[in-house]
Amino acid sequence: MSVLESSTKAKQVSTSMYPLIDTHTHFDAPVFDNDREQQVQSAYRQGIRHLILVGYLSQHFERMYDTKQLIDKLSKHFGIDTDENNESDFYTHIALGLHPFYIEQHTDAHLIELAQMVANSRPLAIGEIGLDTFTDAMKEPDVFDKQKRFFGAQLDIAVTHQLPVMLHIRKAHAEALAILKTHEYDAHTLGGIAHSFSGGEQEAKAFVKLGFKLGVTGQVTNPNAKKLRRAIQAAVDIYGIECLVIETDCPDMTPIMCQNSNSQHPAVGQSPDNEWEAVHTHDRNVPANLPWVLWTLSELLGVSQDKLAKQLWQNSCDALKVNWAYPT
Ligand SMILES: [Zn+2]
Repeated sequence: MSVLESSTKAKQVSTSMYPLIDTHTHFDAPVFDNDREQQVQSAYRQGIRHLILVGYLSQHFERMYDTKQLIDKLSKHFGIDTDENNESDFYTHIALGLHPFYIEQHTDAHLIELAQMVANSRPLAIGEIGLDTFTDAMKEPDVFDKQKRFFGAQLDIAVTHQLPVMLHIRKAHAEALAILKTHEYDAHTLGGIAHSFSGGEQEAKAFVKLGFKLGVTGQVTNPNAKKLRRAIQAAVDIYGIECLVIETDCPDMTPIMCQNSNSQHPAVGQSPDNEWEAVHTHDRNVPANLPWVLWTLSELLGVSQDKLAKQLWQNSCDALKVNWAYPT
């Protein structure tokens, strides 16, 4: 699709606005430092009402809280009232966790720090946590064992504090399912999201059966993402649209309609040294792109955007064990 076509489409999607929850972002990443206020404004104009900052390295936990504070302040500054009673609010939330892709950087002290922070300032969720064997280095037994240990320990923190988890599982679905079963994490009770779901039909059904929602990113906007589309369809055929939530995972996973260059930026956690700093501004994903995920799912599943948006809102609340009012 040409830039011209995509910008025309972008205009079309902005004419109808549906309230949305961006269930997974890294909006605290430095790649947003120069225009965060502008991006919050356009996200708001595109219907985003709640945005979740998801943790990956303990060294950035403080930055996430700073970012939340800044957005809360910005929201007031440009007239978005953060008063609890105002239904037009823009809220930012925090999930804390140690991402499996960065396993070599995590230490036991980070786990202890995480447990203390969760006890002291109860975040919305624990995440992102899980298993990732995307590269050969991650498959090395000692590395993978450490991933499993940190995954289990963080599931235990979630159970202790009765919090939902945000799962990051890549090329390790069977192992992740096995660990979930051996810990006392019950997603039917605690909620939880299989973020940026990338497995096949069987895995999709298995996670939903356990009580997780499948987090759908801009990847679904790519017509070539056939395996992903089939997996979503298969889960929906059995469990209905109740099993889905949507997310940008920004600055990654830019919807195909919003990609302005042919260069491919790294997928989630693929650049541990850069931590997204290498993502160029023109290629990065932003929260305001979330309606494209809604639009694509609506087309794919044959459900109106209006109906889907309402259900996705409810699904997000169910997955996160919150009761946020749907703006009318
Ligand atoms: Zn993420």
